[in-house]
Amino acid sequence: MTLSILHHYIAGEFVDSSKRFDNINPVNGQRICQVAEADKKQVNQAVMAAKEALRGPWGSMSVQQRAALLHKVADGIEARFDEFVAAEMRDTGKSLQQASSIDIPRGAANFRVFADMVKTAGSECFHTDTPDGKGALNYSLPKPLGVVAVIAPWNLPLLLLTWKLAPALAAGNCIVAKPSEETPSSATLLAEVMHEAGIPPGVFNLIHGFGPNSAGEYLTSHAHIDAITFTGESRTGSAIMRAAAEHVKPLSFELGGKNAAIIFDDADFDAAVEGTARSAFTNGGQVCLCTERVYVHSSLFERFVAALKQKAEAMKIGWPTDADTDMGPLISFEHRNKVLSYYKLAAEEGATFVTGGSVPEFGDERDQGAWVQPTLITGLSEDARCVKEEIFGPIAHISSFDTEEQAVALANNSKYGLAAAIWTQDISRGHRVARQMEAGMIWVNTWYLRDLRTPFGGVKMSGIGREGGQHSLNFYAEPSNICIKL
Ligand code: NAD
Repeated sequence: MTLSILHHYIAGEFVDSSKRFDNINPVNGQRICQVAEADKKQVNQAVMAAKEALRGPWGSMSVQQRAALLHKVADGIEARFDEFVAAEMRDTGKSLQQASSIDIPRGAANFRVFADMVKTAGSECFHTDTPDGKGALNYSLPKPLGVVAVIAPWNLPLLLLTWKLAPALAAGNCIVAKPSEETPSSATLLAEVMHEAGIPPGVFNLIHGFGPNSAGEYLTSHAHIDAITFTGESRTGSAIMRAAAEHVKPLSFELGGKNAAIIFDDADFDAAVEGTARSAFTNGGQVCLCTERVYVHSSLFERFVAALKQKAEAMKIGWPTDADTDMGPLISFEHRNKVLSYYKLAAEEGATFVTGGSVPEFGDERDQGAWVQPTLITGLSEDARCVKEEIFGPIAHISSFDTEEQAVALANNSKYGLAAAIWTQDISRGHRVARQMEAGMIWVNTWYLRDLRTPFGGVKMSGIGREGGQHSLNFYAEPSNICIKL
């Protein structure tokens, strides 16, 4: 069988490379297609095409025209919705339910939201007194940064790629994007959509490849990149920071997490169980916002653990295409090895396994895939590695607390600070605890309820800067102040 090849998109053309790598389906370990791997020369061509495009029609387009083109991209995603859903499911093994209700609709929505935002954005203006009494007028003008390098992860491929692309394009930048090597398909489809929508050549360039000594590193260390926006592991963030340091450029980082959930004794019990199960196991625990540490008031502990166990065991782990599947496989064998190494470590550290801890058996081709069981553990100390380190799989550690102060201290005892969830029916407590959380995003009585205008990002090792609404546009545009003496 001849496998199809996913190409780069450089200067408005789809191009191959002499080197290629395999794209593997984690459901059964089979090869889906081959992917071109960009070398240094191709990365340079993409960067130079983007630089050139800044001087072309894109640079002189009105905001209205740019916004109209971005709406066409959103239309294009929606017109090929089923292809995008299928591509995302093939690359990641995520469920049909998730790909069709979250990933792909959000991919289109990202373009619409930021296209509309730039159309209505205002700017600052100050009347300034001067000694001659005539005054001066100051106003600020947002200008694109130039060529933006976009590096995306594999967990929500189209959603997170477009979360960066849409505001960066809306602000007038040109792009060189690199999707994760694990998930090249939906990004390639997006390049086709951009092409069909009439985005001028060079404005959006897509290169495929890996991180170190490959396309990712060539891109982030390129002298002609004006800014880097990256979502991925904290460790990769620090490698990118080092690569970017020589040429000094703005960085936007959305990094890892070890998110806590706190369940108080006055919580709506069923809602807290339901929400915590969702926050631990959505996308196989492979969402940066997922809960990996659960702190439950001691009066509820046993009951809560039992109820969460029941939820975990009731989840349907199965074919992504089945409408009732809750959880698919992990993204890859490499990632499964990492997650299973933490399951093993948890046992070595003395954890009690409430449920899971192993690999499901299907008796069919899925036994060659990258599956793991949803897992709940208890009994570890706060300094156990499984409680400290991001695992990024369907596993959570549950422990108890007695006082509110203790719960806050436990939740904040992490080098990460991305998200937190608080479950209480006492709204004053909800506010009080939320403001003490050392995290960028705090949910009270819910989880992953998103409004695209709100600040999104983390503190500590979970990131630098904020995305979302005006926060994204502030990163992707640099205001220049114009002062006119009257
Ligand atoms: P990763 O850091 O391994 O890879 C992310 C991207 O960076 C990929 O495209 C990869 O090829 C590239 N890359 C790797 N090394 C590089 C290098 N040296 N130079 C340039 N590029 C390089 O992350 P991942 O495994 O794809 O994603 C999972 C991680 O992402 C988790 O830690 C998760 O918490 C985090 N994440 C964070 C957010 C957030 O919003 N904070 C969202 C999603 C995922």
